[in-house]
Amino acid sequence: MGQTKKLVLEKRELGNTGLKLSCVGFGASPLGNVFGRVSTEEALASVRRALDLGINFFDTSPYYGATLSETVLGDCLHELGVPRDEIVISTKCGRYAEGFDFSADRVTRSIDESLSRLRLDYVDILQCHDIEFGSLEQIVNETIPALQKLKAAGKTRFIGITGLPLEIFTYVLDRVPPGSVDVILSYCHYGINDSTLLDLLPYLRSRGVGAITASPLAMGLLTENGSPDWHPASQELKSACRAAALHCKEKGKSISKLALQYSLMNKDISTVLVGMMSAEQVEENVSAALELSTEGIDNELLSEVETILKSVKNQTWPSGIHQS
Ligand code: NAD
Repeated sequence: MGQTKKLVLEKRELGNTGLKLSCVGFGASPLGNVFGRVSTEEALASVRRALDLGINFFDTSPYYGATLSETVLGDCLHELGVPRDEIVISTKCGRYAEGFDFSADRVTRSIDESLSRLRLDYVDILQCHDIEFGSLEQIVNETIPALQKLKAAGKTRFIGITGLPLEIFTYVLDRVPPGSVDVILSYCHYGINDSTLLDLLPYLRSRGVGAITASPLAMGLLTENGSPDWHPASQELKSACRAAALHCKEKGKSISKLALQYSLMNKDISTVLVGMMSAEQVEENVSAALELSTEGIDNELLSEVETILKSVKNQTWPSGIHQS
């Protein structure tokens, strides 16, 4: 890790927000135990290491671990005494362990609950979580206006929307007043196995909407350990990713490093959120970013992995309800 002390993790602007996010963002869903149990000590060590290595962006949701992720993240930030203006905190609303509720009433209560768990006075970004599970009409006409009021009340600085199908983003952005949605968070669409977010980036750029991509490791598919049981990918996609991971392992290389570097290469994406649950993972992921900036990606390995994944390229899975 000698190298990471000298190099600085790149920060990128997020759309028109004026925020500068570390290109590697800390996905806090694992702190809600969604990828296996994470102890208080491991959580604290992960967050501490992330801050030490220049990560300033942390993303959570009341949904992750049925509010546990927010509570653990809040405890860690409090314990570490992090100056508020040195970090960018994003949480979400509308998706809960009990189900979805994008009503104005629920999201208005939700932010107060999140702030209390996070031990903060405000978040930097409040995002409607997985909007394809709600009525997009409601998101446009009720949820976003409610979030505007929360912004005016100083409870969030910026507003975002998240979800899997890419068409939800244009649906909403085409219908809300310009500037009322600052950010989109897309997941599992900008990685080695699926890079379909690429087509949306010019549209986002033209509107000054920031782009965050999440799950560069395809929620565990592009890791040596593989994906958790709940992973929605087809068996075909899972086994192709397993074969790719094995290929890298046999060459003494890391599929996760390659996958993260792939996502980081596109600078129209402000930050790549990786779920991290140990200080070691934080170090590996920051090292991957720093190495990319000095040495570039391993093109030979990338092309071998792309060949293994060719038959499943851009394969996704259904998410959400049918929109009328
Ligand atoms: P991911 O692709 O980042 O994969 C996380 C998994 O990879 C975990 O099991 C983690 O332990 C493992 N991992 C991380 N670094 C590793 C390394 N160096 N080597 C080996 N394994 C490693 O998936 P994710 O956690 O689902 O996504 C990242 C974050 O993005 C989430 O925590 C969340 O904050 C956000 N996200 C948001 C949405 C949404 O809003 N709808 C959806 C998905 C993800």
